[in-house]
Amino acid sequence: MNNNNNTLNRETLCVQAGWKPTNGQPRILPIYQSTTFKYDSSEEMARLFDLEETGYFYSRLQNPTCDAVAAKITALEGGIAGTLTSSGQAANFYAIFNICQAGDHLVCSSTIYGGTYNLFNVTMRKMGIDVTFVDADADATQIEAAFKPNTKAMFGETIANPGMNILDIEKFAHIAHKHGVPLIVDNTFATPINCRPFEWGADIVTHSTTKYMDGHAMTVGGAIVDSGNFNWEAYPERFACLTQPDESYHGLAYTKKFGRLAYIEKAVAQLMRDLGSAQSPQNAFLINIGLETLHLRVPRHCENALKVARFLSAHPRVNWVHYAGLEQDRYHSLAKKYMPGGTCGVLTFGIKGSRQDAIDFMDRLKFICIVTHVADARSCVLHPASHTHRQLTDEQLIEAGVAPDLIRLSVGIENVDDIIEDLKQALD
Ligand SMILES: *Cc1c(COP(=O)(O)O)cnc(C)c1O
Repeated sequence: MNNNNNTLNRETLCVQAGWKPTNGQPRILPIYQSTTFKYDSSEEMARLFDLEETGYFYSRLQNPTCDAVAAKITALEGGIAGTLTSSGQAANFYAIFNICQAGDHLVCSSTIYGGTYNLFNVTMRKMGIDVTFVDADADATQIEAAFKPNTKAMFGETIANPGMNILDIEKFAHIAHKHGVPLIVDNTFATPINCRPFEWGADIVTHSTTKYMDGHAMTVGGAIVDSGNFNWEAYPERFACLTQPDESYHGLAYTKKFGRLAYIEKAVAQLMRDLGSAQSPQNAFLINIGLETLHLRVPRHCENALKVARFLSAHPRVNWVHYAGLEQDRYHSLAKKYMPGGTCGVLTFGIKGSRQDAIDFMDRLKFICIVTHVADARSCVLHPASHTHRQLTDEQLIEAGVAPDLIRLSVGIENVDDIIEDLKQALD
């Protein structure tokens, strides 16, 4: 889980970080397709259970294939420790639940992924965790008004899916730290190739690896990475879950035992043990193959998306386009600050006419498919109001930054002229 790759560039980390074979070991990351691991003595096994020694005993907690991939993602983000989860949903849930319990409160940007919005707004409320959604573009004093004595964390997405808003990470980190809580950033769309939120003050990063990291729409997965920078012991009462003895671990206190690794150690030792949303080694192996080319694919996605965004903005049948790479976009200056190399391959737009016209347009596309996915090699479209976000009311849609006519286009890595040609024939 630990990272010691701080001197290598991201391109090298994509290829080399994680699996480090020793003499005579397989060159390629092996799939440790085993639920359990064998030890010679009962004493050795007991020490693992007591967290006295690190090692593998059951793949619900840790598995060598998964750990190697977590280490690669941790290195890419410049973090200190990380873990894989079975999905992006599990990553965001664990990231919060690791430090929040019934009676606690969360401050969250209102423009987040629909799945995360439901998790926070419905399911976590049922667990007694309260949330206040804030307009992330508001000034600091307005956002600070949302904080309460029981606030435990702040949350936002580097690039909101599908609002395409860019988070002012430095502003959010400043507010979070002023109120003594960590900033958790979902960095799925930007990927560490385009933005590393830790460099701007974020404390914890989450990912849906399902998107660009996998890159081929093969596996659902997630990751949590800790910067190791948040000082839990500065607020021992607020973060008693990390600083005080854990009943379920014979009175072990995570910060005392693990220091800066406390947050991830707890997420694995306690949440994975009890809730069990572990990644499968087979899937982790596939994510690793995706990661090897992340640094090649992401720039191509961005290059293609910018050309497509320019084409759409100039088309008479298109009402509006949201893509922070466009000079006229309202998030362009934030994008230039946080993601000078490009934002992502996803953009949104609305076409003139009725809701039905948008649906007809999508049905006329040839190789650009309608799928519930984004951020893989193949170009695809989705109409959030009739697909991913159909559980939300019109009011919630607007609050989540999703206009009813919004079409989300995930620009793939095909030849960009072919992508534009497909869009053109469907628009014309
Ligand atoms: C897709 C997505 C998620 C959820 O991830 P899954 O892997 O589908 O569970 C969370 N956050 C963002 C920004 C996403 O795009």
